[in-house]
Amino acid sequence: MQLGRYEILEAIGRGASSTVFKARDTLIGRIVAIKTLQSGLNDPAWRERFMAEARIVGQLSHPRIVKLHDVGIDEITGAPYLVMEYVVGETLEQHMAARKTEPQQACGWGAALARALAYAHEQGIIHGDVKPANIMINQDGRVMLTDFGIARFSAQISQNGGLRGTPAYLSPEQIEGKPTDGRSDLFSLGIILYQLATGQRPFQSDSVQAVCAQILKAKIAPPTKVNPLLPRAFDGIVTRCLARNPEDRYANGEILSTQLEAVAREPLVLPRRGPTRNRPIRTALGYAGAAGLLLLALFSPIAVGYYRNNLRLPPAPVAMYPAPTLPADLPFWREAQDISSPSSEMTARAPLPVHRQPARSKSAWAMKRRLEALETHPTVAEASPEAAPPSNRAAELPDQRASSAKTAGIPMTIEISAQSSDGTLAVFADHQLIFSTPLASVAEATEEPFRAECTLFPGQHHLSVALYKADNSLRAEKQGLAELHQGESNLLAIRVVKHSKILLLRGTGLEVTWPTGSTDPRTEHGTKDFSAKAAGRRLVEPQGLF
Ligand code: ADP
Ligand code: MG
Repeated sequence: MQLGRYEILEAIGRGASSTVFKARDTLIGRIVAIKTLQSGLNDPAWRERFMAEARIVGQLSHPRIVKLHDVGIDEITGAPYLVMEYVVGETLEQHMAARKTEPQQACGWGAALARALAYAHEQGIIHGDVKPANIMINQDGRVMLTDFGIARFSAQISQNGGLRGTPAYLSPEQIEGKPTDGRSDLFSLGIILYQLATGQRPFQSDSVQAVCAQILKAKIAPPTKVNPLLPRAFDGIVTRCLARNPEDRYANGEILSTQLEAVAREPLVLPRRGPTRNRPIRTALGYAGAAGLLLLALFSPIAVGYYRNNLRLPPAPVAMYPAPTLPADLPFWREAQDISSPSSEMTARAPLPVHRQPARSKSAWAMKRRLEALETHPTVAEASPEAAPPSNRAAELPDQRASSAKTAGIPMTIEISAQSSDGTLAVFADHQLIFSTPLASVAEATEEPFRAECTLFPGQHHLSVALYKADNSLRAEKQGLAELHQGESNLLAIRVVKHSKILLLRGTGLEVTWPTGSTDPRTEHGTKDFSAKAAGRRLVEPQGLF
């Protein structure tokens, strides 16, 4: 098929009142797009107007405006046709139907279109039908305005100047039939910008009349309300484009273009605080995260303490032993006595044989009974390897101990004052349990400190004081060296104190004064501090003991 000197290759699109073909210029071999208007132009006056318009539009030369190469009239049908630059790509309408547009891309394209419009307006030409179907995106991703002036002309000849197609992109003055100028195109561009950036048109309705009513009256929702990722400046730009009164819009496309370019250069906006749908979720997540961190901060010391007490250290020895029996042949142990209240039931009755091994098989029931008994009565427990204190590293007695085995025992006084009544206090000498008592019994003795007496051989001993919770986990422990001498006080002073810790957590601590064999007992504050300095200067280094 031939149209003038153009060879029609294929139909590539169909508009409301036109068909677009891909064609070849047989004279110079150029591929072009030919748009044929369906209405004939039999009236010579109309022919003349069409040609005049085409001559003006044909003068436009701008990289963002699809070039009009030629016009003609089919001599057979009388239908005019337009020969245009052929653009390989898709329309903006097709693009928006297929995918989202990034805010920066929307601003960049808007700026390019505004500049193209500014150029045309300077030539005295308004587009008159700026809409996504009349904007093409070429292979380079650049936008190009098409149908410049022609759509308006074709509308005039087909419907005598009335509205056709969708009015969604028309300006208020177009709807009202008032005179238009370039600012009418800027209104239409404002609608496209809004749609590009938010994915929806600012004026939407089912009927043509309703859309027109909205364009004339309705207030638009700010674009950032629909898409919070948009730069805030975008709201102002679009609002100004869509001002009902042309006087309130940008005076020309150049100003609009400059503003959009500035916004397009801005870095992408992170999700902003605003009345978006996700905000309550984000806020809730924020609070939950903060609460989680706070709980972690609060409970990590507790968790660490729990781990240390329950996983690393042995359970309280008090639940492990059968009722002790009175040994007959051990000179250096004698019955421990509650010397502060001789009538008290709390007197421990068990002098403990160092070398005696307790029965190994103990039922849970027996252990429970033992624990129950201990909760009400302080006990001097049976010495046993299983009764080893928390730092159970020395099973062997030192040679010195063996050599002094024939020496008579001397008393060591255990003096306890307690600010807490929870749990059990135990004293170990050389890794053997020598004394234990529920703290409830100690706390009862408010008048003067609770006292008990144990018998040990004179000389050096490794002492350990341990405080257990009700569940037998270790709460606090102190170790030190004691040196016992005949005729001296040999006082082991123990204070169970309550510490006020950070974050209002309270802890229980031990303060212990070890018997040093002098009248200058030293207070030991460090946990598991086992040094000659702590034990007194007369002590030898306890090599090999631990
Ligand atoms: P409308 O009337 O909806 O604006 P047109 O008649 O202008 O539609 O164009 C119809 C279709 O023809 C367009 O959607 C586009 O796909 C195609 N088209 C229009 N102009 C060109 C061109 N210059 N180059 C390539 N394709 C074009
Ligand atoms: Mg078109």
